[in-house]
Amino acid sequence: MVFIINKTLLKNIYKEIKKYDEIVIARHTGPDPDAICSQIALRDSIKETFPNKKVYAVGAGVAKFKKFGNLNKVNYAELHNPLLVVLDVPNLYRVDGIEELKYTSILKIDHHPKEDIKGNVDWTDMEKSSTCQMVAELVLYTKLKLTKKVAENLFLGMVSDSERFSLKNTTYETLDTAKELIRLSKIDFTSLYDILYTRPLGEHKFMAYITNNLVVDENKFGYIIINDETLKEFNVDVATPSNLINNYNFIEELLVWTFITEDVKNNQYKVSIRSRGPIINNIASKYHGGGHKYASGAKVMNQEEIQNLISDLSKACQDYGDSKL
Ligand code: AMP
Repeated sequence: MVFIINKTLLKNIYKEIKKYDEIVIARHTGPDPDAICSQIALRDSIKETFPNKKVYAVGAGVAKFKKFGNLNKVNYAELHNPLLVVLDVPNLYRVDGIEELKYTSILKIDHHPKEDIKGNVDWTDMEKSSTCQMVAELVLYTKLKLTKKVAENLFLGMVSDSERFSLKNTTYETLDTAKELIRLSKIDFTSLYDILYTRPLGEHKFMAYITNNLVVDENKFGYIIINDETLKEFNVDVATPSNLINNYNFIEELLVWTFITEDVKNNQYKVSIRSRGPIINNIASKYHGGGHKYASGAKVMNQEEIQNLISDLSKACQDYGDSKL
């Protein structure tokens, strides 16, 4: 291994895990594969290492992510001040399913810019491609056990958040960590891509709809507003556009693109934004959102906010273009 691992930090995280008999592992609402896979892999690894501990992965389930493993239903009243592990989320309000939980201490592992959650033991590193990469490093370089299933989930989360190791967050460390997972657990990694990328034809038709209806302006900014009727027409849900948005990463005419999807249940619009140049998370945070420099999400409540968001993002593209002149 050539890159430097912060062994002291990893040891402290391991010690913190070892200290508690009861551990609740949470992640953000509206989970993606990185959030779910890191949560399930860490739970399974801790259970494998310490069979007597009670370890729970909590939060609302998502039907299409069942293939990664089951989540736990927990009666928090029966717990005795457990350790709360927070994965893949920096803001307390976005942690799913812990409203009723009374915990002693927080262990945070995350690759987003810091917000309000401060772990008593805290590993926040924006340079990591995914939370799964961080959990993989924790498992690989401490006494936590690596099973085939744990390795598979960690690999899937890494592939998903780095868009098959193609995004700028992918580093030598990312590839080295993925290689170690494969070497040690002998996972059939090429078959795993099916789990992430095989989709019903309906979703491909929906992608064609997005491509055909994306509005692209002179600043290389693209957007589409997807209403509930359209979601129903293609038999997809409000989370689907976020799962597809990385597929638009290699379009010459786009610097920034956003999908603004009507979320009837919550009476708002769910926004996903991606960039190949301008920094966008500062704009996302103006609209009840946040995320990474080049991959962010937000929520907008009405047409006025939609129009403001569109003009802010277009302006960011214009400024970026001007700065390159
Ligand atoms: P998405 O487009 O939903 O895949 O989200 C891209 C990134 O932005 C992920 O890192 C999310 O955790 C983050 N994100 C999405 N929505 C929000 C939000 N409302 N507030 C803060 N961060 C968000």
